[in-house]
Amino acid sequence: MNKKRVLITGGAGFLGSHLCDRFLKEGYYVIAMDNLITGNIKNIEHLMHRDDFEYFHGDVSNYVHVPGKLDYILHFASPASPIDYLKMPIQTLKVGSLGTHNCLGLARAKGARILVASTSEVYGDPTVHPQDESYWGNVNPIGPRGVYDEAKRFQEAITMAYHTYHKLETRIVRIFNTYGPRMRLNDGRALPAFLGQALRGEDLTVFGDGSQTRSFCFMDDLIEGIYRLLLSDYPYPVNIGNPDEISIKEFAEEIIKLTNSNQKIIYKPLPQDDPMQRQPNITKAKEILGWEPKISREEGLKITYEYFKSQL
Ligand code: UDP
Repeated sequence: MNKKRVLITGGAGFLGSHLCDRFLKEGYYVIAMDNLITGNIKNIEHLMHRDDFEYFHGDVSNYVHVPGKLDYILHFASPASPIDYLKMPIQTLKVGSLGTHNCLGLARAKGARILVASTSEVYGDPTVHPQDESYWGNVNPIGPRGVYDEAKRFQEAITMAYHTYHKLETRIVRIFNTYGPRMRLNDGRALPAFLGQALRGEDLTVFGDGSQTRSFCFMDDLIEGIYRLLLSDYPYPVNIGNPDEISIKEFAEEIIKLTNSNQKIIYKPLPQDDPMQRQPNITKAKEILGWEPKISREEGLKITYEYFKSQL
């Protein structure tokens, strides 16, 4: 009865479901909400029998009603891969804007602290490298990625406005590329695409010449960073990601090696506005949260590979 209660939107998604696990482990009462457009009930099936967990089907872009007290809200609902938000541009814009507004209103009504999931996409195709939190970004508002990037930028703006105007306790995490079990094999992102292709015996599709870079963080590290940020007293955006940067071509080669497959790399056109480089500067996370990633890409990829094998 005295447990702290946390609402997790997108609770059946890749990150949302891992957050459910983590908060239950820490002794919280967890309420997961999802409309399952990209989430999967299988990700939280193992929690359904628990009396400290509940799930309800709902769309946070509409009015949200949650009975009882709430101590924390984590807003993680959103399509999060380029092909998903291209398929669902309006829903992506709505969940980042209206969905965030609803969560902020709910947090205010309940006197809860809220953490919103922002993204390295607020930096767009960055002209500053590595990216630190003071960089304003380079985003094309009307390009194909604009629906996600601008929704998340609006999310940050309205979250700060609730903080300054309503004195709401708010936290903003800027999440860089993250991977791990419970990603969807068909979500179109580089890692599931490459692992899926290797497992099916298909060639790996690298977009462009593969010289664009990303920095991949294993989800356990990310969840730890988010947990620490929520419990900190820092209201401004904090990058959470792994600074270990790699080109997409080298990444595809790593996956061919890991999966022991004889597949080749084939090259496809680079999608419009695809960022050329991305690497988090995590000085702030280190200083404020005492956080840095601990799991190497080699280790994390092995775990993720085993997961995808079990899914096929
Ligand atoms: N990418 C690729 N082949 C694929 C899927 C993605 O070469 O089958 C590239 C994509 O163009 C981008 C990088 O891999 O440069 C990371 O893409 P992802 O969709 O994983 O994430 P984001 O672009 O949002 O960082």
